[in-house]
Amino acid sequence: MVECPVCQSKSLDNQLKFCTTCGWNLTANSDTLGQAPEPSIQKENLKLSWAKQMWQRFQFQQKEFQQLRQQAKSSLNQLQSQLEQANLEKKLLETQLSTIGFKLEKKEQQNRQLQSELQEINRERQELQLQLSFTQLQLQKEEQKNLQLQSQLQQTNEDKNTQNKSILELQSQITQMQLQLDSSVNNYHKLQSELQKNQEQIASYEQAITELQAHSQISESPPKRKNYWQLSE
Ligand SMILES: [Zn+2]
Repeated sequence: MVECPVCQSKSLDNQLKFCTTCGWNLTANSDTLGQAPEPSIQKENLKLSWAKQMWQRFQFQQKEFQQLRQQAKSSLNQLQSQLEQANLEKKLLETQLSTIGFKLEKKEQQNRQLQSELQEINRERQELQLQLSFTQLQLQKEEQKNLQLQSQLQQTNEDKNTQNKSILELQSQITQMQLQLDSSVNNYHKLQSELQKNQEQIASYEQAITELQAHSQISESPPKRKNYWQLSE
């Protein structure tokens, strides 16, 4: 049985020259050390002590390395899990993005349709405004005509008033003339009555004259003449 003085691993093979664990030369100690001088032994012991320290440091570093590797593995696992999660989220976001893109496309289509409708409405509005201004013009013309007609009506009314006045004046004149006529007729009747009286007087005078002539025995015949009252009838 051989035990390595550096790493303390044991082997059943007595002929082994180097340690299978740390690679230390196993032949140096057993055979040659017995006959070697004092400084050489010290030198060998120093080497061995250094090798032990180196082995211990190596062991410690290996442990640290194992720990670090374990940590790295755990971190890697965590990162992979996060990556998977991120991939899932990415796929979800891609789906959402596609949905939003589809909706956006739909909205844009609606927007284009609305714009087209808006243009149509604007065109109709312009047409209506044109019609409105035309109607306003016609209305103004009608109002002008109305004003003219009103002015004519006023003129006609004034004419009618003037005519009425003339008619009234004429009626007044007629009344006056009738009054005058009445008065004339009265005068005529009066004169006729006077005339009759005068004729009666004349007739009585003539009769008196005839009687006087008959009494005075005058032979000459009286002139034949007609009476005035007979003429007037
Ligand atoms: Zn060893």
